[in-house]
Amino acid sequence: MEYEPVIGLEVHAHLLTNAKIFCRCSTKFGAAPNSHTCPICLGMPGVLPVLNKKVVEYAVKMGLATNCRINDRSVFARKNYFYPDLPKGYQISQYAEPLAEHGRIEIETGDGKKIIGITRIHMEEDAGKLLHDERNPSSYVDLNRTGIPLIEIVSEPDMRSAEEAAAYLKRLHEILVYLEICDGNMEEGSFRCDANVSLRPKGRAAFGIRAELKNMNSFRNVQRAVEYEIERQRHVLDGGGKVIQETRLWDDGQGVTLSMRGKEEAHDYRYFPDPDLVPVEIGKDWIAEIEKTQPELPQEKRERFIREYQISSYDAGVLTASRALADYFEEAARQAGKPKIAANWIMGDILKFLNEDKRSVKDCPILPADLAALIRLIDDGTISGKMAKEIIDVMYKTGKKPGAVIEEKGMVQITDESALAKTITGIIEANPAQVEQYRSGKEKVFGFFVGQVMKATQGKANPKLINDLLKKMLSGS
Ligand code: ADP
Ligand code: ZN
Ligand code: MG
Repeated sequence: MEYEPVIGLEVHAHLLTNAKIFCRCSTKFGAAPNSHTCPICLGMPGVLPVLNKKVVEYAVKMGLATNCRINDRSVFARKNYFYPDLPKGYQISQYAEPLAEHGRIEIETGDGKKIIGITRIHMEEDAGKLLHDERNPSSYVDLNRTGIPLIEIVSEPDMRSAEEAAAYLKRLHEILVYLEICDGNMEEGSFRCDANVSLRPKGRAAFGIRAELKNMNSFRNVQRAVEYEIERQRHVLDGGGKVIQETRLWDDGQGVTLSMRGKEEAHDYRYFPDPDLVPVEIGKDWIAEIEKTQPELPQEKRERFIREYQISSYDAGVLTASRALADYFEEAARQAGKPKIAANWIMGDILKFLNEDKRSVKDCPILPADLAALIRLIDDGTISGKMAKEIIDVMYKTGKKPGAVIEEKGMVQITDESALAKTITGIIEANPAQVEQYRSGKEKVFGFFVGQVMKATQGKANPKLINDLLKKMLSGS
């Protein structure tokens, strides 16, 4: 039997607000345990949550960027369950009336572009974090994370392979980071994904029973977990068994998914509207205002780069990996007037330097203007491309301008025709036998003369000028 995988993702993203969603505690990662807490996020009785407006603004930004309808009214609901990292005994989330719905984004697949539907985006608070001590029979709870604002982005079950799931996830991640509403750090848990996977016989419309996968903290692990799960379910179905609806945990070390809880233990969250919070009403004016602050999104930027700068789609992909890099490129391209050449220097040299040092382009010692200046110096013949390679290396190490490096190293290219002609005359006079060979048709000795001129000028002469002059002077004209 041939099966078709069906995949839908639920993504949780921490919003980059300074304060938590319902209190003024800091959201900063890595503080001493329980130092960012107050009666509200500790869930003390009698306290009242107050919604942080910035959270709504950021959630709306994501809704707009993913082509969702922003509901003019949405409602916070209590999701009731007991767990030691949840002091109130319920999580404030949204349920029947979420903030945004009916969106879509485009991904690239092996067979071209594909639209993935977004079912809904809602706001909620994060829970705390349990730390289990392996050597000690005790667990600890850190409540710094309770009340950190999250958006949950639920996709339609539109993906058909692990690659598509990874492509969708990368696209969401990229949009969130471009919007500057999430730092996207998967290791710190700022961007988390649950993957729902089921199989159905090819050609059948109805979906199969799904398993929900958790605990994948990198794009690669999401892809591996989904791949593994597809194979596992295929095996179950081929053996005449049934897939059961359950939550499974990805075990990175073993490279397998393991059952965590089955249907019997499925939660009944008894959702109801939170009586402590009024419905969120968002006026058209505010949405229009937020819309005005939206940056150019990565996909739009890539398409514009290809169109405007005539660079390849691959290059546009690399250069739009972050907003900072895209800005760097555009500034250098504009000042140099040579986008393709600027792209090559950035992709070939600057990114290599930065990657080696694990440095962000924001901290690059070579400013876009310096790179542009270097490109212009090659262009006007002051230096050769080979010299520029040496110069850019020094520029990166010292932060000096290209002009200063050239001066220090005495690297100016000889472009003075009469000076070079004089050198060539000397070489011709000193090597009569080779001149004779060249004139009698042995073209190969030309290389010998180029070498001699290079040596005499210590590699500083413009290669094109050497060629032109040598040809002219060797043929006796
Ligand atoms: P729950 O909170 O119970 O997981 P949601 O509706 O919030 O339910 O999320 C379900 C997710 O699972 C969505 O991303 C949806 O696309 C996906 N999904 C639903 N049914 C299937 C299925 N049969 N196979 C794969 N994914 C599915
Ligand atoms: Zn607090
Ligand atoms: Mg789920």
